[in-house]
Amino acid sequence: MWNVSGVARISFPGGSLLMPSKNRYDRELVFEQAEFYARRHGAATLELSRRQMLISAADPQGAQTCASCRDDLIRLTFAIGDRTLCARCARKTAR
Ligand SMILES: [Zn+2]
Repeated sequence: MWNVSGVARISFPGGSLLMPSKNRYDRELVFEQAEFYARRHGAATLELSRRQMLISAADPQGAQTCASCRDDLIRLTFAIGDRTLCARCARKTAR
């Protein structure tokens, strides 16, 4: 498990990327980058604040809902442990 304080790691097929994640602004950029790689490669892993999440494309046919707010999951899903969250709730876990 990635465990370096203030640094996030984004992993995707063919590479990985380290980014600072010291404050809320940094973390927003980290999420935007991770989402970019998830869209480009179909999935990406983000390790941040001692958590690991798998970001992947939402099933366009599936009516999957966020485990936290129950919103429909569109575009991307954020799997953290056995919970699958929307982009907004995933960001909340990183504070
Ligand atoms: Zn949610």
